[in-house]
Amino acid sequence: GTSAAQARSAVLEELIRKDPGRFRVLTGDRPTGRLHLGHFFGTLHNRVRLQELGVELFVVIADYQVLTDRDVADNLLQHVEELVLDYLAIGVDPARSTIFTHGAVPALNQLMLPFLSLVSVSELNRNPTVKDEISHSRQSAVSGLMFTYPVHQAADILFCKANLVPVGQDQLPHLELTRTVARRFNDRYGAGSAVFPQPDALLSSAPLLLGTDGTKMSKSRNNAITLAATADETARLVKGAKTDSERHISYDPATRPEVSSLLLLAALCQGRSPEQVAADIGSAGAAALKKVVTESVNEYLAPIRARRAEYGQDRAHLRAVLSEGNERARAVADATLAEVRAAMNTCY
Ligand code: ATP
Ligand code: MG
Repeated sequence: GTSAAQARSAVLEELIRKDPGRFRVLTGDRPTGRLHLGHFFGTLHNRVRLQELGVELFVVIADYQVLTDRDVADNLLQHVEELVLDYLAIGVDPARSTIFTHGAVPALNQLMLPFLSLVSVSELNRNPTVKDEISHSRQSAVSGLMFTYPVHQAADILFCKANLVPVGQDQLPHLELTRTVARRFNDRYGAGSAVFPQPDALLSSAPLLLGTDGTKMSKSRNNAITLAATADETARLVKGAKTDSERHISYDPATRPEVSSLLLLAALCQGRSPEQVAADIGSAGAAALKKVVTESVNEYLAPIRARRAEYGQDRAHLRAVLSEGNERARAVADATLAEVRAAMNTCY
């Protein structure tokens, strides 16, 4: 569960500080719209932090996975470019890190076939995140791709033999499945040696940031504040956020999820604790809280938004970043697929 993963994350942080060269990170996002503060504090911030510590970083733009919960992937090129923009704006450095799309790396996708053979239908059926996503899906029927996408994610992570995956809480069941796939592959085909590592999830201090309606901040729930939003849009969104009628502002996620998530957001932006932010506001009420949140978010995001606007001027650069990343990812995937085929005796 989450608390075990949090304890493990603290241990990992120590190991990373001592020897960042031991770690390789894979994470990613679906090109379905602009990234929001839930993505940022759940995983994006950690990606850049790890990159700066000297950890090698792979970022997948999961274009095929757009089709998990909808029939058609709309405006893919535009969404892909928006993601690359978000990445560059937050500080992902394409000279050190690899940004790529599923669609451009056939050998990665090829790994899904042997991996599917290593999991049972009932294991896939039990996945709580897939269940939750199906309940929020726009489709009336569950597609085979939706049902099996955690196996596809295992291919994402294992194609580059990543051993560290900075994610939000919803991804923990998928990481568990990836570990299972790696273990079973090694047992079945490894002939005594490990072809794949068993990757660890790295949780941030905000593994489940709530949106303005008090449920998980999500692109599809109209409750998100995007990185790219203007200061005015941010003010309007925060103003409309759900709170409660208690004038005294206190941090208590269990009983006051809406107020607490606003406090957490301000705290993350200020680099302080949510309790400290609450103490400053005292009994000034929800309006005062929202003013603090708006100012904190806007101040924190100002440099990111400025860089985003600047990079947005040069679409050709975004394409170049992607095509270089795709090339690097293809080389890595080809090497891994060759190794997998050798292990499985499918080289003829
Ligand atoms: P969304 O979840 O907003 O609908 P998505 O499904 O396209 O968008 P995901 O792939 O679910 O995006 O999320 C990408 C990463 O961001 C994952 O590591 C996920 O755990 C993390 N993440 C997403 N939303 C949140 C949140 N509200 N709080 C913390 N982490 C989050
Ligand atoms: Mg999601």
